[in-house]
Amino acid sequence: MSLIVQKYGGSSVQDAESIKRVARRIVETKKAGNQVVVVVSAMGDTTDDLLDLADDITENPPLREMDILLSSGERMSMALLAMAIHEHGETAQSFTGSQAGMITDAIHGKARIIEVSPKRVQEALDDGHISIVAGFQGMSRESKDITTMGRGGSDTTAVALAAALNADVCEIYTDVDGVFTADPRVVKNAQKIDTISSEDMLEMAAAGTKVLHLRSVEYARRFGVKLHVRSSFTDKEGTWVIPEETDQVPIKEGDPLEQPIISGVAHDASEGKLTITGVPDAPGKAAAVFNPIAEAGINIDMIVQDISVATGKTNISFTLSGSDGDKAQRLLLERKEEIGFDNLDFAEQVAKVSLVGGGMRNHPGVSARFFSALSDAGINIMLISTSEIRVSVITDIEDMDKAVQAIHTAFDLDSDEEAKVYAGTGR
Ligand code: ADP
Ligand code: ASP
Ligand code: MG
Repeated sequence: MSLIVQKYGGSSVQDAESIKRVARRIVETKKAGNQVVVVVSAMGDTTDDLLDLADDITENPPLREMDILLSSGERMSMALLAMAIHEHGETAQSFTGSQAGMITDAIHGKARIIEVSPKRVQEALDDGHISIVAGFQGMSRESKDITTMGRGGSDTTAVALAAALNADVCEIYTDVDGVFTADPRVVKNAQKIDTISSEDMLEMAAAGTKVLHLRSVEYARRFGVKLHVRSSFTDKEGTWVIPEETDQVPIKEGDPLEQPIISGVAHDASEGKLTITGVPDAPGKAAAVFNPIAEAGINIDMIVQDISVATGKTNISFTLSGSDGDKAQRLLLERKEEIGFDNLDFAEQVAKVSLVGGGMRNHPGVSARFFSALSDAGINIMLISTSEIRVSVITDIEDMDKAVQAIHTAFDLDSDEEAKVYAGTGR
């Protein structure tokens, strides 16, 4: 008997009909002779709606209460799904994150998993039930409070349970047929990827490909969990994410054995760009700028410092989460005299567009082709950063979709078929 963990995202359970449809699928999996653990997200855009509601009440919600609020979305869907399964004559028991033994640290809104002890989930399976677990939440042993793991975190719940229960596979069910060479909502002719290395998937997720939560890919790689990303609306085979050094993932005849040069194009619209102008070109200035920002727990992504011109002054630009912009500006303005800069210039939303591929490390000319594609499309580049397996640029937010499409086409990734998006708002 196999143990299968299935995770259903918000768009797969957006209303009563969808919940009934998903329940049928789960029951079929059980009837085929498997043990089934299901991780479920909040219905449709419930999490966003809860955030909006809180926002109507306060600008500064206590983080503890925010997590209690957000965790309720997943509780609704797990109970409704259990009911729908009962309607099909099977039994299911639903568990909150804390009941399922998801122990996290005490950092509200971005809690990290410390321990997974799914004793009750296992007992329910042993008693012949389907176990359903609320995604993206846990409990801190220290504070005894409910925590949530950050947007998209249900994927990580599913992978963590799959690892703890030693599941045969972790299936991530969503509203597209798998991982594509670009977001099918942006590039109509994106191609479905049959197998992708966990290294490339990690890089894509880190660059903004939200079909998988970044931490779920890290966790799967660390614990050797086999991930299969697929649509809950069809029976089609999706995308297998292959952990390194495994021979357990089916490699079909005709699959290339070497990594492709390019896996795909990712985009991210969540970053802002802050430029500090007229910084004295002297030792210690970069440290004076970035120390207070780091101490405030603000993450920085790309950094560019101009070479100093005859004036002995330079500009420093960096990107950060758009929502951290006000705080970062405040911190820097408090130190304006000490650092000695002239001005701050903040763009709240810029676009980050990245090309990812493990094979590019052995192939010259990738960057040149990338920049030519953007130049042919008339797109201005603000910042550039590269790694061995990624090239990223920051552009104007208005240029984002055009840039993704231009790069996708320039690297011959366009397919003849249109990619299907089955549901969801892409919010
Ligand atoms: P769920 O609610 O199932 O967790 P998400 O909205 O988190 O779903 O993730 C699925 C969405 O990810 C898709 O609808 C698609 O718009 C988006 N996406 C972005 N990049 C990609 C990509 N490269 N391949 C597939 N989907 C992508
Ligand atoms: N419901 C949460 C969110 O919308 C968690 C998830 O769906 O993964 O971010
Ligand atoms: Mg998701």
